[in-house]
Amino acid sequence: MSPEPALRFRIDTRALAANWRALDAMSGRATAGAAVKAECYGLGVSICVPVLRDAGAQQFFVAHWSEVEAVAQHVPSSQIAVLHGPLRDEDVAYALNIGAVPVINSLDQARRWSNGGGGVCHLMVDTGINRLGVAPNELADPAIGALNIDVLMSHLASADEDSAMNGRQLAAFKDCVGAVSHRSTSLANSAGIALGENYVFDLTRPGLALYGGVPRDEMADQIRQVAFVEAAIIQTRFLNAGDAVGYNCEFVADKAMRVGTVSIGYADGFLRSRGPGASMLHRETSLPLIGKVSMDMVVVDLSNAPDIHEGDWLGVPYDLPDAARESAVSQYELLTVLGRRLRP
Ligand SMILES: *Cc1c(COP(=O)(O)O)cnc(C)c1O
Repeated sequence: MSPEPALRFRIDTRALAANWRALDAMSGRATAGAAVKAECYGLGVSICVPVLRDAGAQQFFVAHWSEVEAVAQHVPSSQIAVLHGPLRDEDVAYALNIGAVPVINSLDQARRWSNGGGGVCHLMVDTGINRLGVAPNELADPAIGALNIDVLMSHLASADEDSAMNGRQLAAFKDCVGAVSHRSTSLANSAGIALGENYVFDLTRPGLALYGGVPRDEMADQIRQVAFVEAAIIQTRFLNAGDAVGYNCEFVADKAMRVGTVSIGYADGFLRSRGPGASMLHRETSLPLIGKVSMDMVVVDLSNAPDIHEGDWLGVPYDLPDAARESAVSQYELLTVLGRRLRP
């Protein structure tokens, strides 16, 4: 067994469950599913999916076929939707074998699914994000008519902004609802849920907000932080005026000072673009980063914290809205870049 690492990662599973329930309640008459792609946005399928399932989620969204198996350890595979759809014939065979449901994104995918045996699928229609999905004017195609569609869905491009795009996409989606037969409808991601009852349809698909992201201020009171990161001080040292710190000597001390080297760096997902100006936390005391983030380490100014020693733990700011505001890194990226050494 390896000794205790100098990095700690904690997931508040109660906050995760509470966030799903809050998003489900905010979804009104609609039911909330859960986007669990990218390892639950970096937090880990094996911890998060059982919590979301036990909170009540019954529809799980992954991006890749390679993500199905891990999720299927915890929920029925018929509840797993694969957003990227079947790119190759072998994807169809895999879907039928494991029982996961493809999201059909093009006429080609529709034909591939039907030719390979088909069955229940979901259909993504593009209402303006121009990423994945069939065009509204393709809905009359016989390849779409041949599908057995459970959820008809679309995806909002700018739900986190008060943009005219939201209304345009809503209108375009409503036009599609009558154009193709399906059992239920879904438009809203996390931010879309906060746009109100016109946007929720039958099923919502929150991702970011489950894991503590706050894409719109309306949600700020109801969404709790889920991911907590701590790193240990692995060395303290004294600098003289004129001493430089770290790669490219970006920081030069203008006075004698005590600093601490902390065991987190960009290899762990603490990116250079989070500094400068970033701080680590020791209880209530904020310890400014100095110099560049390097592979495995950052250095902090200990002037305000004379009582800190090697082995002490510092909090890495992971309140997502705050951390995103204070850096060039988005809330999505703050989670999904978390490195392997942090994973439980
Ligand atoms: C990722 C994704 C979601 C979740 O979006 P968030 O903004 O993280 O809530 C919902 N729907 C689709 C199609 C997605 O790709």
